Amino acid sequence: MSNYQITDDLLAKIAETAAAGELPLVVFDLDGTLYSNSPRIIRILHEFAHLHAARLPRLFATVDALPAKAVLYRVDDTLRAAGVDDAALLETAHRFWRERFFTNKYVLYDLPNPGAVEFARLVWEAGAVPVYLTGRDAPRMLVGTVEALQRDGFPVGTARTQMILKEDVELSDADYKASTVAFLERMGRVVGLFDNEPVLCNLFKRAFPAATIVWLKKPHAPNPPPLQAGVLTAGEFVDLLPRHDQPVAMA
Ligand SMILES: [Mg+2]
Repeated sequence: MSNYQITDDLLAKIAETAAAGELPLVVFDLDGTLYSNSPRIIRILHEFAHLHAARLPRLFATVDALPAKAVLYRVDDTLRAAGVDDAALLETAHRFWRERFFTNKYVLYDLPNPGAVEFARLVWEAGAVPVYLTGRDAPRMLVGTVEALQRDGFPVGTARTQMILKEDVELSDADYKASTVAFLERMGRVVGLFDNEPVLCNLFKRAFPAATIVWLKKPHAPNPPPLQAGVLTAGEFVDLLPRHDQPVAMA
């Protein structure tokens, strides 16, 4: 299915569901889907390098030069790929990263993936409820998550929007997201869902077989299962925007 067909199909499902008097839900994952985490990770690694520059000048020189594009799914792999191989140092850097990554303050360094804001607005304006369903936990990350969504122009906090964070830090993302299925079913009809984790796309395809389930081809957990039949793939949200195929006049 072409990218525009994915969007056309989703918009038709939104219209049909609304016409039937039900709430059409379009579920969006945040980390790795609507948002790129690379700027957050590289900010933390730069901070680590700068704060340890006097004692570790080589680490500083290496890490300070790393761009956000050098970020791999795992922070340790990012440092190893840059040539940092001291086990104790990797452990210290990992702890430094873990103390900051899951916080309101650092989540603000994330940036929306290209076209994510426009796509979320498109489905919202078409009558759907964007549901931000994330593995981030509310105790440590709710405030920063709301602040970033509002700053970046996502529909948030108003009528016909929904946000669901984890209440229990210890729960795995897969178990947590599976546990939300019953709530989503009671709220409305899930017509679309976007996630960067193949395992979660499969889970939701089983739960909502008629929905448009799209795997966003972005960094994800290692060793993913094959995509279940019917799960669609997209590279970027910009590819899904209807206006993308029209000539754009440059100012
Ligand atoms: Mg994700």
